[in-house]
Amino acid sequence: MVGLLIFNEVIYRCPSCNSLTEITFNIDALKEKVSKTLFAKRSIYSMWRYVELLPISPENIYSPGEGFTPTVKSKNLAEYLKASKLNFKFEFLNPTGSFKDREAINSYF
Ligand SMILES: [Zn+2]
Repeated sequence: MVGLLIFNEVIYRCPSCNSLTEITFNIDALKEKVSKTLFAKRSIYSMWRYVELLPISPENIYSPGEGFTPTVKSKNLAEYLKASKLNFKFEFLNPTGSFKDREAINSYF
């Protein structure tokens, strides 16, 4: 099902076709609220810098410092793969050393 669902409960499956829930953003509506400039001005160094893009109300945020891990360019591998650019993200710098911290924090709510 493609459409707009507004819900106040966790929905894992589409009520029409039972496929997994897929979240998409209304980009035009988001552009009115947020911008790269707004995010860059914030002195929040975790994934919560982008709170408007996450499915959690700001008053419910709990953060042990997950997200906002740095990246490093890989010039040689990018050339080998014929990619214009390639970066690796240092997800091991998350609190538990795993990229799974991002999802785990979202699942608390
Ligand atoms: Zn569906």
